Amino acid sequence: MIAPARGARHFESWRHALAAAVTDPDELLALLGLDRALAPAARRAARRFGLKVPRGYVARMRRGDPADPLLRQVLPLDEEERDTPGFGADPVGDLAAATAPGVLTKYRGRALLITTGACAVHCRYCFRREFPYPDVALTPARLAAAIESLAADPELKEVILSGGDPLALPTARLAEITAGLGRLTGLERLRLHTRTPIVLPERVDAPLTDWLGQLPWRRIVVLHANHPRELSPEVVAACGRLAGAGATLLNQSVLLAGVNDDADVLAELSEALFAAGALPYYLHLLDRVSGTAHFEVPAARARALHRGLLERLPGYLVPRLVREAPGSASKLPAGWDGHSA
Ligand SMILES: *Cc1c(COP(=O)(O)O)cnc(C)c1O
Ligand code: SF4
Repeated sequence: MIAPARGARHFESWRHALAAAVTDPDELLALLGLDRALAPAARRAARRFGLKVPRGYVARMRRGDPADPLLRQVLPLDEEERDTPGFGADPVGDLAAATAPGVLTKYRGRALLITTGACAVHCRYCFRREFPYPDVALTPARLAAAIESLAADPELKEVILSGGDPLALPTARLAEITAGLGRLTGLERLRLHTRTPIVLPERVDAPLTDWLGQLPWRRIVVLHANHPRELSPEVVAACGRLAGAGATLLNQSVLLAGVNDDADVLAELSEALFAAGALPYYLHLLDRVSGTAHFEVPAARARALHRGLLERLPGYLVPRLVREAPGSASKLPAGWDGHSA
């Protein structure tokens, strides 16, 4: 066998792993030794938002357990077909916050750029599962317009690359985007919001850390892990590589019924994150997007879980429990606004 160049080999391997993700409900059930009776419902719900899960993530699930907390995050269910009052397509007011196609400016000093609609995994509870990504696909003209609009904000200190998941893009594409951001003279920080290192740790390859390491701004990577069992040794190693490229590592989780609505599990997640070099940042109440009502943890129960964390952990390992309200100037600490169960 001929050994390809180092960069090329790394590049190829994550693209291949991503392309080989499981997308067929029957296959997922077979891999986990689960009852095929779950398949018709999964196929129905997957018509609206497809199943997608990398094989390395499937390998962390418990075989034969339909209630596995990792499986629950990715397996389409009949419950998604249910209409629930209060749940809609754009629960957090993303569309009203667009200052240019793909640029969401909700808070002072920072703006969020939708870099792609693609992700390495499809999370059933995703708050952007109904987002009209094709309308904002970052063509060269749209990227120029986005940078124009960012440049017009004199207070802007931080740009957040989001999506979808920015690490679903090739590194060369990320480099084009950050080259464009070089025009923003007031920019101090670049942040990535990404779940990819958790579900596809091989994505954190040498070209990616080279790119990250050479950026002229402070770098923050906000990971998205929800359960301690997601932090496999490969994920911990990927976090180490991100930190080695100079990134501050934080994590945001979503509080999800049947996944992590347990103070011991959440405490274990915080400990595992810290062991991987990441601090817990936010614990989000579910955003009420259509088809996700079965994941909701009532706010009163969420506050009790959060209290449980305060009682178990040092303060720096307790994430802020927040919810997002359309039109507000920040994520809101849960409980500030009388929003109750
Ligand atoms: C959540 C979010 C941010 C980041 O908020 P922080 O409190 O800084 O983490 C920025 N912009 C938008 C549009 C967001 O939804
Ligand atoms: S990785 Fe994030 S954006 Fe992508 S499906 Fe999951 S929650 Fe949604």
